[in-house]
Amino acid sequence: MTAQILDGKAVGARIRAGLADRIMALPFRPGLRVVRVGEDPASVVYVRSKDRAAKEAGYDSETILLPEDVAESTLLETIAGLNADPAVDGILVQLPLPKHIDAQKVLEAVDPAKDVDGFHPVNAGRLAAGLPGLVPCTPKGVMHLLAEAGVKLSGARAVVLGRSAIVGRPMAALLLAADATVTMLHSRSRDIAAECRRAEVLVAAVGRANMVQGDWVAPGAVVIDVGINRKPDGKLTGDVDFEAASQHAGWITPVPGGVGPMTIACLLENTLEAALARRARVPLE
Ligand code: NDP
Repeated sequence: MTAQILDGKAVGARIRAGLADRIMALPFRPGLRVVRVGEDPASVVYVRSKDRAAKEAGYDSETILLPEDVAESTLLETIAGLNADPAVDGILVQLPLPKHIDAQKVLEAVDPAKDVDGFHPVNAGRLAAGLPGLVPCTPKGVMHLLAEAGVKLSGARAVVLGRSAIVGRPMAALLLAADATVTMLHSRSRDIAAECRRAEVLVAAVGRANMVQGDWVAPGAVVIDVGINRKPDGKLTGDVDFEAASQHAGWITPVPGGVGPMTIACLLENTLEAALARRARVPLE
């Protein structure tokens, strides 16, 4: 068997085009502010892509650059200013932050109503409780991809490899909300290969190149590879051995071009949802 490819680049582009159409019809432009501290090379690239995608779709997007040695209090004041600014619908603080700054304190300073990354404990708690709120972009993007593949999640055995606050935990919560039977695996889990083999939907978010072997994948399973790992030759690779897993899976995401582009599309989606909730009282889902 050779798996069908879930093309996140194409799905992401379609979502962004749909958002652009909706924004053209609005009487205002949703405002997104991305705060970047310092010059971490990956953050420079990510923030530029987010700003470009937002502007292309018609958002009022600005990047706020602060120096590497900025005081935590200055960053917190910047966020307070954005919280109070009625033109700003979405605030994203790019991670990682320099070591002298308490990242959790900063994430908790963002108004939950403008928290388009979905990292504020209020939004994380709402998701865990099955309540509407702003949902982290990467797992939200994975749900779009599963819908694209026509996966019936109700009652399906889903396995999430990784339990970070950014990907694994919200991913499991979203799958559970979609009525899947969810197993979470992490560094202390036993029999990881056997657990993965039981998955009809397998989401890998570990950050270990090619950890998921071909024979960990059940015949016909849907394999979503969130991992982004840099190989010694500079190229990117996922957490799944793509070639081997493709021989077993029904659907699989490539890296790059799978989950990555969905993350930006969902950031824009969240920003529109936050704008409509705040300005037009359209309830969040
Ligand atoms: P973290 O490092 O925060 O979490 C990794 C998780 O994997 C932890 O829960 C850890 O377990 C678990 N883990 C690590 N090693 C093993 C192992 N040997 N066996 C089982 N579980 C293990 O990473 P993130 O969740 O932030 O990111 C995961 C990957 O996804 C990374 O490659 C990252 O670059 C990528 N990513 C991609 C995005 C995209 O847009 N495509 C967005 C965000 C992340 P424990 O909790 O026990 O330590």
